[in-house]
Amino acid sequence: MRAQPKASHFIGGEWVEDREGAAFESLYPATGEVIAHLHEATPTVIDRALEAAREAQEDWAARPPIERGRVLHRAAEIIRARNRELSELETLDTGKPLQETLVADAASGADALEYFAGFAPTVTGQTIPLGRDMAYTLREPLGVCVGIGAWNYPIQIACWKAAPALAFGNALVFKPSEMTPLSALALAEILTEAGLPAGLFNVIQGGGACGAALVSDPRVAKVSLTGSVPTGRRVYATAGEGIKTVTMELGGKSPLIVFEDADLDHAVGAAMLGNFYSSGQICTNGTRVFVHRAVKAAFLEKLAARTGKIVLGDPLDAATQMGPLVSDAQMAKVLGYIAQGRKEGARLVCGGARWGDTGCFVAPTVFADVSDDMVIAREEIFGPVMAVLDFESEDEVVTRANATEFGLAAGVFTRDLTRAHRVVAALEAGTCWINAYNLTPVEMPFGGVKASGVGRENGHAALEYYTRVKSVYLGLGDVDAPY
Ligand code: NDP
Repeated sequence: MRAQPKASHFIGGEWVEDREGAAFESLYPATGEVIAHLHEATPTVIDRALEAAREAQEDWAARPPIERGRVLHRAAEIIRARNRELSELETLDTGKPLQETLVADAASGADALEYFAGFAPTVTGQTIPLGRDMAYTLREPLGVCVGIGAWNYPIQIACWKAAPALAFGNALVFKPSEMTPLSALALAEILTEAGLPAGLFNVIQGGGACGAALVSDPRVAKVSLTGSVPTGRRVYATAGEGIKTVTMELGGKSPLIVFEDADLDHAVGAAMLGNFYSSGQICTNGTRVFVHRAVKAAFLEKLAARTGKIVLGDPLDAATQMGPLVSDAQMAKVLGYIAQGRKEGARLVCGGARWGDTGCFVAPTVFADVSDDMVIAREEIFGPVMAVLDFESEDEVVTRANATEFGLAAGVFTRDLTRAHRVVAALEAGTCWINAYNLTPVEMPFGGVKASGVGRENGHAALEYYTRVKSVYLGLGDVDAPY
């Protein structure tokens, strides 16, 4: 096996295997080759992980934040030193080209660890003067947190949840997607090597049932999910039963608006990044590209020329720009949407079919003349399929951009900065870009509105979702009781 881990789970600082759990395989989506054999967590394994987290958390929370940060700093350094190895593992597990994983996956995970390592010692409470008396607040960790990941950015998602959880004194049990089980285990090993005490970062494998068992467990104080809206609804409801804190990073169908005065080359480049990077498997993708009618022909001409030159192929080849989708099922789903787009009368500009006859590749696809009611303009496809829609006026495009249950992200391309800020203010989206797209540095809060999510990852905002506030009233005089 090219990427066989030492065992399926990592709990309490140790590799754990339980062959009673259902067996599953991890496949390399470019060839279908089996790269690892694993077992799902049994109830015993799930219990062991939660118990390990519970036992370790109290002592960790009691440590000075600067000490916790030091461990995360060391982990970030190890990740950077092993970037090549981790990137190859991520490429094998996801099929994303090495050209991407070398710069975007483990590297952004290291950024998160570094950011929250530095943030932890700066966290303070408030002092509140009350005349004779006073009050102050303490920021406390939540306790045992659960992280559940999607398959598109496995190590980044694990780090985006582990870094704030651990920095602020929590313990985490992380369940990666069954499609991409491997890099979270590598992260667990690295955190241990960096000096993280046993039990604070545990990885268990399994599907939806395993995730559901974690979410409903009374030992768990917080759940952070990265996944689709339907899964989010279920997880949020279960977490709500237990009155748990949540972060929900869910799907989207984000608008990217190109006004007539935009720099068209940059707008085309951003639209391609926002639809074809990671073979289109990115939650924030600008999959509804609204182009002003005056520049539509020029936009499509440039887009078709550049899209036709995208290099697909072996993801481990440094020259490859686009790899396969994550699985046969995802490829079938995306090809189904392409068929639907044709049936509904959208104009196919390029792509529109499977690429090659092995692996889960789909050619980068552009549809023009898409209307708002077509399925390809309404549903999240999660593949390399761009829908180009025309518009005439600013008011019209804002109304149409907002006419969706999703609200994850949005982008605006224009040279008129007054208009850019005005439009961004009117867009119902958690993350917006002006003359850029899909950049998500750890310094910037990230998350959605409407059905796309609740809460924020990254930036200072993450503090709200991994800590709770304790208010302390300090009586400095006599107790004035009326009886
Ligand atoms: P899914 O919603 O299918 O799964 C997400 C995770 O939840 C997986 O680990 C899955 O397990 C688990 N899960 C499934 N059912 C339950 C349940 N009832 N209780 C607890 N956990 C459960 O999403 P995908 O993995 O298919 O990822 C793609 C989706 O993720 C897209 O919609 C995309 O937009 C979204 N996403 C959002 C991001 C954001 O930050 N907003 C970023 C990246 C992706 P398993 O799959 O192993 O069965």
